[in-house]
Amino acid sequence: MPRVAVIEGDGIGPEVTRAALKVLGKVCTIYNIGDLELVKVPAGDSAYKTYGKAIPDESWKIIQTSDVVLKGPVGETAGEVVVKIRRGLDLYANIRPSRCLPGIECLRPEIDLVVVRENTEDVYVRAEYLHNDIAIALRVISRRASERIARVAFRIARKRKRRVTIVHKANVMTITDGLFRDTVRQVRDREFPDIELDEAYIDAAAMDIVRRPSRFDVIVTTNLFGDILTDLAAYVSGSIGIAASANIGDEKAMFEPVHGAAFDIAGKGIANPIAMILCTSWMLKWLGEKLNRGSYLKAGESIENAVYRLLSERRKLTPDLGGSATTEEVTEEICNLLT
Ligand code: ATP
Repeated sequence: MPRVAVIEGDGIGPEVTRAALKVLGKVCTIYNIGDLELVKVPAGDSAYKTYGKAIPDESWKIIQTSDVVLKGPVGETAGEVVVKIRRGLDLYANIRPSRCLPGIECLRPEIDLVVVRENTEDVYVRAEYLHNDIAIALRVISRRASERIARVAFRIARKRKRRVTIVHKANVMTITDGLFRDTVRQVRDREFPDIELDEAYIDAAAMDIVRRPSRFDVIVTTNLFGDILTDLAAYVSGSIGIAASANIGDEKAMFEPVHGAAFDIAGKGIANPIAMILCTSWMLKWLGEKLNRGSYLKAGESIENAVYRLLSERRKLTPDLGGSATTEEVTEEICNLLT
C-alpha cells in the first residue's frame, strides 16, 4: 500500500494542496485506486510556530516511512524543510521540465528542455562559517554524486532528443566544477556513448535559456546553478503557477510546485492550482512505474490530459494566466475534464 506524506505548506500552500487532493480523489475513484494512503503531516512555518521545529519529530517519522512526499510550497522555513527531506531521503535528482504548454503565452514558445539538478551537495550542505568578519561557505562536489546525477540525465535524454549539456563554471572553480564536468564526461563515454554531450558556462547558459532555448534538450548541473536556471526556465516557459518539479532518489521521491508560498495572494482564492495538480499527476506516474501498476499510470495521464485541455481551450483560468476564475473553479473544471 503506497503511502504519501502530504505537506500542505504555507501561504497559498493549503489552497493549492486542497485543490490537488480533490483532483487526486476524483481520479482515484475513476481508476479504482483504493490503496493510496495519504497522511497529512505538519511542516513549515506553521509547524515551526506550534512545535518549535519546521519538521516536527512526528512528521519526520511519517515522512521517513512514506514512499512519496507531496509537498506544497513552504514560506520562511522552506530551506530547512526542503533540504532536510532531500538530503534525509537521499532524493538526489531534482528534475524540472520546462516547455510551453498549449494555450499559454510564453516568452519563448520553442522552449522544451529538462533541467536535471544535483540535489544533495554544493553550497547546500549549509556549512558556512564566520571568522574575523570573513564569511566562508563550503562547496562540496563528489564523484559519486556527480556520477549518479549524470546517469539520471542521460537516461532522460534517451527518451528525448539524446542531447545533454553540462552547465558549470570550471574555468573559475577548477577543482569542484572540474570534477563535476570530468565525471559527467566519463559516464557518457563509458555508459552512454549514444548521447551527444556538450557544455556551457553558467552565465552563458542563463543567457541562452532566454535567447535561444532550443539549444538545450537536457541540462545537467550542480545544485546552486540548477536552482537559478530552473526558475529562469519556468519564467521563460510561461507562468510559475503551472511548473511542477520532482526530487527523485533510488527508492523514494518528493513532488512539489516550482513556485513559493506567494503570501501576497494567500487567502484570496486566486492561486493557480495547476502546478500542484501536475505534481499529483507526476507522482501517480512515478508510483505506477515503480510498482508496475497500469491504473496509476493511466490516472496520472488522465490528470495531465485534463490540465492540457483546460489550458488549450482556455476554459477556466486564474488571473496569473489572464483569466478571472478562482482556484476552486479551476479545480472543479479539471475534475470535470478527467476521463
Ligand atoms: P519563494 O521566495 O519561496 O520562491 P515567493 O512567494 O516569494 O516564494 P514565487 O513563488 O516565486 O515567490 O512567486 C512570485 C510571485 O508569483 C508571487 O508573489 C505571486 O504573485 C506569483 N505566484 C506564484 N505562484 C503562484 C500561483 N500558484 N498562482 C498565482 N500566482 C503565483
